[in-house]
Amino acid sequence: KDVINQIAAAEIIHRPANAIKELLENSLDAKSTSIKINLKDGGLKSIQIIDNGHGISKNDLPLLCERYSTSKLNKFEDLNSLKTYGFRGEALASISYVSHVEVVTKTKKDGCGWRAHYQDGVLIPSKSGTSAEPKPSAANDGTVITAEDLFFNMPLRKRAFKSPSEEYTRVLDVVTKYAIHNPHVAWVCKKAGTSLPDVSTPVDSTTKANIASLYSPSLANELLDIPLTTLQPESKLSAQCKGWVSNANSNWARKGGWLLFINNRLVDSTKIKKAIDSLYTAYLPKGASPWVYLSLDIDPAKIDVNVHPTKSEVHFLNEDEMIDALVGVIQTALSGANV
Ligand code: ADP
Ligand code: MG
Repeated sequence: KDVINQIAAAEIIHRPANAIKELLENSLDAKSTSIKINLKDGGLKSIQIIDNGHGISKNDLPLLCERYSTSKLNKFEDLNSLKTYGFRGEALASISYVSHVEVVTKTKKDGCGWRAHYQDGVLIPSKSGTSAEPKPSAANDGTVITAEDLFFNMPLRKRAFKSPSEEYTRVLDVVTKYAIHNPHVAWVCKKAGTSLPDVSTPVDSTTKANIASLYSPSLANELLDIPLTTLQPESKLSAQCKGWVSNANSNWARKGGWLLFINNRLVDSTKIKKAIDSLYTAYLPKGASPWVYLSLDIDPAKIDVNVHPTKSEVHFLNEDEMIDALVGVIQTALSGANV
């Protein structure tokens, strides 16, 4: 049974960057305004995420890493919903099947914090302890989750990771993108034991300021604003877009960049990317791509529920019309900037 669970878990948690994405989405769901990430060996040795969100009450700790245990599903219809990032409580469970998990958490109303250890979905004693019960612990308001030795129990998978630095780069990419999409949060991401973070943003920043500090000030300067626009206003789909895109002859175009958030979740859509890239082919040298940050809000009921959200490629109803409308919005911004 555990082997089946491990395989299922490894489908969801492919590598440190997936684990980080799930963990930071939980921190965002918990209304954190500060999220700090420390990594050893690119997250392969250890991942630690420290947030100042609402914390987890002691009563919820025993089932925290149980599969399908979630505080975010109230109605059956919510199953169709991507509005909260989590999906049926599979993330923490999966992480506990492929690593050693420690949780230290404190809610505002609790006098002290609680420390708990997990393996394969259930509470276990700490290395030095005998009882699996959560222990009182000094803690700040919020949650600290540490996952050690990713894939320790799946040697083949573990050996497939050749380069901790590549894993670190992937994590930085995810954190950078979430920092741009969530500029109200103070973000830090660094290698454990170093003092100089590789991502660091102040609380209550702006998207543009974070683009300037995390990508480049000159990119931020030349970006075109895509103001909040309702796509297909005449239809019932009620989708909206906003964002920033590079202009038609930006120097940045060569490197490119692609940040697509749908309902606040970082996703991929090959179709949307192709459609937008093709807008730039008239302007950019062959092989170059634009820098694009787009945030779409789509009625969650219209998103294809057959696509598991941990698979990042998404589809939605009336996709072609919606993409046409989106391309129209960006075309307008581009031609406005080039007259
Ligand atoms: P989901 O996000 O789909 O609910 P997860 O496995 O990611 O499932 O998390 C399980 C539950 O653990 C969440 O529903 C939430 O109640 C709690 N939780 C996880 N991480 C945090 C956190 N950083 N702060 C507060 N609660 C958390
Ligand atoms: Mg989650």
